[in-house]
Amino acid sequence: MNITIPTVPLGLLRRLNGAGYEAYVVGGCVRDAIMGRTPSDWDICTDALPRQVIDLFADHSVAKTGLQHGTVMVIEDGVGYEITTFRTDGAYSDHRHPDRVEFVSSLREDLARRDFTINAMAYHPEEGLVDCFGGRVDLAAGLVRCVGDPNQRFQEDGLRLLRALRFAARFGFRVERETGEAMHRNRGLLDSIAAERIFAELKGFLVGQGVGPLLREYRDLIAQVLPELTPMFDFEQHNPHHCWDVWEHTVRAVEAVEPETALRLTMLFHDSGKPDCFSMDENGVGHFYRHGQRSEELAGQMLTRLRCDNRLRRQVLLQVRTHDQPLPQTEAAGRRFLNRMGEEGALQSLAVHRADMLAQAPETWPEKQALLDNAEGILRRLLEQRACFGVKNLAINGRDLLALGYRPGPTLGGELNRLLELVLDGTLANGREVLLEQAERDREEN
Ligand code: ATP
Ligand code: MG
Repeated sequence: MNITIPTVPLGLLRRLNGAGYEAYVVGGCVRDAIMGRTPSDWDICTDALPRQVIDLFADHSVAKTGLQHGTVMVIEDGVGYEITTFRTDGAYSDHRHPDRVEFVSSLREDLARRDFTINAMAYHPEEGLVDCFGGRVDLAAGLVRCVGDPNQRFQEDGLRLLRALRFAARFGFRVERETGEAMHRNRGLLDSIAAERIFAELKGFLVGQGVGPLLREYRDLIAQVLPELTPMFDFEQHNPHHCWDVWEHTVRAVEAVEPETALRLTMLFHDSGKPDCFSMDENGVGHFYRHGQRSEELAGQMLTRLRCDNRLRRQVLLQVRTHDQPLPQTEAAGRRFLNRMGEEGALQSLAVHRADMLAQAPETWPEKQALLDNAEGILRRLLEQRACFGVKNLAINGRDLLALGYRPGPTLGGELNRLLELVLDGTLANGREVLLEQAERDREEN
């Protein structure tokens, strides 16, 4: 096994070795390198104590924020490298934080405290791969497996439940059987994990290529953090557009949309309001009137609990609310749509509608696809023409109205909006002359 370590981290290893310390690259970078993926960062572990690492890199700037875990971050060429002293994690009486970390002298003990076998390998250019727990075999087999007793490892740190799902989703791996059983059994541990950490793992999980099968198999874990989703499980739709129950439809919709956080969250939440809105008509057909609105409420509740940032929250809620509204089929409707949704929102909406369609009964696709293609053509054309769909794209602005004798304040804003309406309708072209004339007329009338 040969791993090419980039010059900078290799230099850090060499300096540690030169001073008589052991040092290895370890964890995610070794895993990624073996898989032929480019590691995002190169972490180093060593038997040097943090104080000794700091002294050895006195000519570098170092960040000491991880010092209580034995981590010194050495900065070179603007990039930080974590150098962590071999350690074990002691006891975890709260299932979240080790009571104390304890430095140890052997690499093996350090590898043993790591979460999964694929994350518990180290590498040194002369010694080669150090793989005490079968990480390489699991990597080849596509398995996420705890190092040691899974029950105990999850009880030490409940976040590992979601880390397991995130790594499995990212690489399209399965969870090894005993590890998986322990995950189901210990799902209650998620209740004591901080919302921010849960959300970070959840987002990583959702954008993974292998998320679909895991959403099916581990829906009990998902429900542990998002109980609002539970009513979707096995909920039959009794509707010709659908051949799957609400959860299966949701899983397929998540898989069908691009792996982008806002879109994946949207698809996860988009039908969460359906069970609450279900009704059956006299023909035995199921309906879900106004479920977009109910889904938005539930999604808002979940995102609040997860401490989602406002920008992402706004994006997701807009898409959830509008996911089943018809897409624009005329230029005028397209302009209004762009005005309402914004450029990014409009493009996301196309993606949402497409994914939603792909998770519905295939015989209903052709008709929906035609509407989608038409809407997409209209929107792309309008965007290309830099068509006007907001006050800021109007050919005149507030200053022009002031020059016509309008007074600053609400009448001026009102007039701009009125002109925009006429342009969106297609009643007026978005040209300076035309708009100035209209504004002049409006002023005389009032
Ligand atoms: P990524 O590419 O997502 O950064 P990574 O494997 O580098 O993946 P990190 O969260 O950066 O993951 O952690 C680095 C290493 O530290 C892991 O590979 C693992 O060995 C160990 N580790 C991290 N978090 C835990 C944890 N909660 N429990 C046990 N070991 C952990
Ligand atoms: Mg990492």
